[in-house]
Amino acid sequence: MINTTVSLNRGTYKQPNIFGYYGNYGGAYIPEMLHRNVEELKARYLEIMYEPAFQQEFQDLLRDYVGRPTPLFYAKRLSEQYKTRIYLKREDLNHTGAHKINNAIGQVLLAQRLGKKRIIAETGAGQHGVATATVCALMGLECIVYMGIKDIERQAPNVARMKMLGATVVPAESGSQTLKDATNEAIRDWINNPENTHYIIGSVVGPHPYPDMVARFQSVISEETRKQLKEHTGSELPDYVMACVGGGSNAAGAFYHFLDELSVKLVAVEAAGHGVNSGMSAATTQLGKPGVLHGSKSLVMQTADGQVVEPHSISAGLDYPGIGPLHAHLFESGRGIFLSATDDEALEAAFELSKLEGIIPALETSHALAALKQMTFKPTDTVVICLSGRGDKDLATYMKSI
Ligand SMILES: *Cc1c(COP(=O)(O)O)cnc(C)c1O
Repeated sequence: MINTTVSLNRGTYKQPNIFGYYGNYGGAYIPEMLHRNVEELKARYLEIMYEPAFQQEFQDLLRDYVGRPTPLFYAKRLSEQYKTRIYLKREDLNHTGAHKINNAIGQVLLAQRLGKKRIIAETGAGQHGVATATVCALMGLECIVYMGIKDIERQAPNVARMKMLGATVVPAESGSQTLKDATNEAIRDWINNPENTHYIIGSVVGPHPYPDMVARFQSVISEETRKQLKEHTGSELPDYVMACVGGGSNAAGAFYHFLDELSVKLVAVEAAGHGVNSGMSAATTQLGKPGVLHGSKSLVMQTADGQVVEPHSISAGLDYPGIGPLHAHLFESGRGIFLSATDDEALEAAFELSKLEGIIPALETSHALAALKQMTFKPTDTVVICLSGRGDKDLATYMKSI
């Protein structure tokens, strides 16, 4: 098969084409009822995002409210363990504890400029829900967060946080009662309230322009990394950038300004659950086939007749049967290296980082750390790992595992 869409993108992995395609993946597959909202977003997002007053407000909040730039930390003992040079991009130090707030702030500012007064969101681990509830509190906006019942149980501290911040948390009771189902409920809400509501998607998934918009808001991660690496090593370019992938937003942000630097190897780590072939996994690139999920064409874990397969991961933020279209393209084109780590490997990596560096990572992030064992580095290599979030929310799971 001749792949014509890839050639439209030649020279840049960063941007989808005008229809929102990265290679064969992306687009906007939406019900008629959402057409106006998505079209409006598509027509205006770039103009709004790059307006000087918007950028000023966004940058000021990233600095004074989120605490950016986040440090790039040379992890000496971890580096000794893996006989290379490892830097940690400390997104865990952001206000609310993960990278999600970068996107939540961006999208709330955008929603305000679109005249929307009501914000809805879906959440898995609760980090996106907390980030969205936080920014809505800051801006005085109504906030409704959809969350699978199973995630409400395993992420209790984040549910409490959202409630304290004034958000309404609505349990999603269908299917696997996790992120996929919460997303379905949020889409249903948006269809019913298209006029006054903005739907803040928390990852680089959903219909065009969401994947591109979220990647741009998260690209601050790699923008800072380049400057910080230059100070640390004299070069802006590392040999490797590694990140975990649920939908793929922290990876997209960590990769963004390196996507077209072909000397930089991009390593994406998915959740293998009990093992890729165990039937209890969320390793979408290994198990998925092209399909449409939540508004875009991407790789989706599905049965032969196209039913979405229930994923499994110990980490709520990675427990998703799809992946953003950018990542599907990075996988298919070979630009990205896709690995996976099991629940147990992630747990082990969390304890290793805690003991070696005094940093307790989020369970999601632990998957990226676990992949270090699958790599062979040179002692002179520079490896950047996106430390997407902190582990406070996962302490109960960590304690149960020992
Ligand atoms: C949500 C989350 C993830 C997974 O989402 P991506 O969009 O793939 O980044 C990873 N790490 C943390 C800490 C999260 O909260």
